[in-house]
Parts: sequence; C-alpha cells; structure tokens
Amino acid sequence: MPSTSIWRSFSKSSDAFFMYLCYLDESGVPEVPGNSSHFVLAGLAIPVERWREADSRIATVMERYGLENAELHTAWILRKYIEQTRIDRFESLSQNSRRSEVIRLRTAEVYRVRKLGDAKRNSELKKNYKKTEPYIHLTFGERRQLVQEIAQLVGRWNWARLFAECIDKAHFDPVRAQRSIGEQAFEQVISRFEQFLENTEAADRQNFGLLIHDNNQTVAAKHTQLMRHFHSQGTLWTHITRIMETPLFVGSDLTRMVQIADMCAYSLRRYIENGEVDLFEPLFQRADRIRQKVVGVRHFTAATCACQVCAAHRPLS
Ligand SMILES: [Zn+2]
Repeated sequence: MPSTSIWRSFSKSSDAFFMYLCYLDESGVPEVPGNSSHFVLAGLAIPVERWREADSRIATVMERYGLENAELHTAWILRKYIEQTRIDRFESLSQNSRRSEVIRLRTAEVYRVRKLGDAKRNSELKKNYKKTEPYIHLTFGERRQLVQEIAQLVGRWNWARLFAECIDKAHFDPVRAQRSIGEQAFEQVISRFEQFLENTEAADRQNFGLLIHDNNQTVAAKHTQLMRHFHSQGTLWTHITRIMETPLFVGSDLTRMVQIADMCAYSLRRYIENGEVDLFEPLFQRADRIRQKVVGVRHFTAATCACQVCAAHRPLS
C-alpha cells in the first residue's frame, strides 16, 4: 500500500488529492433542425468518495418501484403508455396483472401491425415496447412519482455539481462560433468543470476530474479527439490541467450515474422548451454557483430570454 509520503512526492504543494467523477449525457439532437429546438449536454460531478452512497441511494428508490435491475431512462418512463389507458381499472390491478394485461394488448397489436405489412410502424412499435417494458407494471402517476423522488434526492446532494450547456439551435451560428453545436456544448461543459476544480482548490488540497460519458459511437470518436486537443491547446476559455484522460465511455443501460446525467439533461431541455419545472427545479439547485450566481449552467439563446437559467446566469446587480 503506498504510503502518504509517496503520494506527496507527486505534488510538493498539496497534502490531499480530491477526485471528481463527472458523468455526461445529452438530450435532444445537435443536428439542425432535428426533432428538438434545443440541444443540451449535462455533466453531473460527484466526489469519488460519495459514489457508493449515491449509487446505493438511487438503487433503494428503484427497488421500491420494482426496478432494481432496470435502467432509469427518464424520457421512456414518462411516456403515456396507451395500453394502460385501455385496461379497465388498471390502477386497481396487482403489478403482475398489470404487466400481463399490457403484454397481452401489445402482442395483439404486434400481430395486427404485422398483417398490415407496415415495416416502419412495426419497427417503431418494437422499439417502443422494448424501451418501456421494464416500467409497464407502474401507473403513469407512479412513474412520475419515481422520477420526482429521484430528482429530489439528487437535488439534496450538496456535494454534487451540475454543469450544462443548453443551446437554442435557432440562435446558434456555426460560422461565428467556428465550431459545431456538439463541439460548443462539450467545450463549455468541460471548461466549467475544469474551472470548478480550480476554484475549489486550496493550499493543502488539489483537485482532479475524470469524465464518464454515455457511449454513443458518433460522439465517442469526436469527443476523444477534442479532449486530446484541449489537453494540448486548452479550450477557448481555460487550460485543462485537472481533468485527466480522454472521456471514458460506458453503456448508459449499465451505469446508474450516467442515467442521472441523462435525467439532468432531459429536465433542462424540457424546462427550456416547455416550461416543465417538476424535475428541473430540484436538479437546478445543484448547478455550480459562485456566491448566488449560476456559473455551471448556461442557456445559449437571445439576450432577452427570461427563463430561470438565464436569470440565474446573469451577473448579479
Ligand atoms: Zn433562457
């Protein structure tokens, strides 16, 4: 086991090292026009020593809803499942009966659509059923309550920090920005994470960070290359000296904390696009702040925007 003195020899000025894991995920698509008006990249950073506590608290809530082995995929959980509305007194059935009744209706629908020979509809149906299958034993109200409970739990983690860039695609000019929407979002989020690591250091404390990213083949190669560039050249805003390595890419279906980053990105986009506050308000409490001003989350849009993100990001008067 390395003695403290060996570790100290790596850094003569610091007594303690602190490591933050920053989990990244996105909501909406960076393509223009795409099917969303905004693209959001969010990163939730937690001190490494809090990981076990964070993971097990989420697991406890998931278990209470019979979802201990399921992915927490907010967008699919919050959809309306049409079959549930067609089952008589669905809410009063046992969870097993709810599940078998929904499966019965879905199977019938698969056969019906197959007969029509509509391949596109058939494949949409399959995807929809596969993504929502883990949650069909829960009513819409229970599913809302589940995500709400988790958002409130994360909102109370005063040791976690949220970083995000929310880009209004109608406002974005790639020529002026000299980068794509996806590149700007990534550069902004990692610059803010690096600055947080720098700002919270002290004479006897040195911070480091690691990025853990939802695995997405188109993004993986791009962000790895960008990160190498930032390591050697810095970003437009800062040198990168505390974030180590290129991002580690993991399957979001397996990594609970990436699913929480997904919830953060989703809630920011749904607030900005539709004014939905239920998940946004608890999670936005975790936005990195210096005194009262939010520095970790930005809405990149017209200067006249009056949303809570823009209001909190403006310099204090
Ligand atoms: Zn705004």
